[in-house]
Amino acid sequence: MYKGKLGIYVHIPFCVRKCNYCDFLSFGEKECKRMNKAGELYERYVGALCEEIEAYREPVKEYAVGTIYFGGGTPSVLDEYLIIKILDKLRDAFYVEENAEITIECNPKTTSFEKFKAYLGAGINRLSLGLQSTDDRYLKMLGRVHTYEDFLIQYEQAIAAGFNNINVDIISALPSQSLHECEEDVRRVVELKPAHISSYGLIVEKGTPLYNDKELLKSLPTDETSVKMYERTVELLEQSGYRHYEISNYCREGMESRHNSSYWTGTSYLGLGLGASSYFNNQRFHNVTKIEEYFELLKDKQKGTQKNISALGNESYVIERDMKEFANIKPQCLWREVEKLTEKDRMEEFMFLGLRMMKGVSFSEFEERFQRPLEKVYKEAIEKHKKAGLLREYEEGGDIYLSLTKKGIMVSNQVFVDFIIE
Ligand code: SF4
Repeated sequence: MYKGKLGIYVHIPFCVRKCNYCDFLSFGEKECKRMNKAGELYERYVGALCEEIEAYREPVKEYAVGTIYFGGGTPSVLDEYLIIKILDKLRDAFYVEENAEITIECNPKTTSFEKFKAYLGAGINRLSLGLQSTDDRYLKMLGRVHTYEDFLIQYEQAIAAGFNNINVDIISALPSQSLHECEEDVRRVVELKPAHISSYGLIVEKGTPLYNDKELLKSLPTDETSVKMYERTVELLEQSGYRHYEISNYCREGMESRHNSSYWTGTSYLGLGLGASSYFNNQRFHNVTKIEEYFELLKDKQKGTQKNISALGNESYVIERDMKEFANIKPQCLWREVEKLTEKDRMEEFMFLGLRMMKGVSFSEFEERFQRPLEKVYKEAIEKHKKAGLLREYEEGGDIYLSLTKKGIMVSNQVFVDFIIE
């Protein structure tokens, strides 16, 4: 009998080349070669990951792993045998459910029919392919290493290998992009009939080459055009049979991402690898972000723990006290930061994440979790935004839900702010 469900996120921080807009924790091949030969570095990293998995064997033994997600970076940059090695280790150390959803993020320049076949053989049953745009001019501008044609070939190879659960990522609101071009992206992706589509608006992250290209940024679409792009994306996808189930995510019936949905509904997850974040036992913790430190700490876990204790001061006692389940081993040697979530934090998070889902949050679930009625805790915020037409209440299956309206989605951040408890 298992105590609960757990999602596993595995971070692979390597890419062919850094994209111009990306601020994720990842290294391009050039940077990897500077650190070490890329191949050797990948092997070393996977060895360290397996050590980390082993360190969690005891604490995770009472959980059933329902989803595994290889993200990055570009997990498909690794040879398939390395991915299989990680999966074998996960299955050896944890109880992975037979029907677990196992996803791997792929860049079309790093895949092949053989790789897809190997993934399927290892039990990976979902692919997330990063396309971003169907126009090579924009792919170049974003610094992507593939063309639209590369993507199409790899998409077909994935289908031929036997994948039927594929997500395609696209980005809108690119510099100089027109509404028509955005619609074309959506139409072309829909023609491929993937099970799932994620469509995000471009975020210009500080410190990226894109952020520093002030000339290019002058041609970013206006807010008004960006909103229209979002509205048209929703419209086109819904007309084509996709269910809009989260602010930026759409799927064919029953093909939601189980892994991401578990983040949005507050299920526990363990993040493994460099800089990975976890949410477990009402605590959020983040692994170290320097690769040499990651290797070093996994080489000598006891030494790492002591180092961690002196670095964190009193906080380390919080870890020792609250993470009783981690008594025999010290995976916390990798934690750079630990946040103990208070009830207030958990309520806020429940609302922020729940309202991202089109279904919204259930009044009864809130009350069951926090022993307090949602309508009382958030009386003012609910009334204010219902009056402004940004939130709505509806009944389904005997339960009452609170969700964003179409108008509310466009200004979701303004709504979320009012769910912060003073
Ligand atoms: S492939 Fe993804 S993770 Fe890698 S640099 Fe590009 S956007 Fe970032």
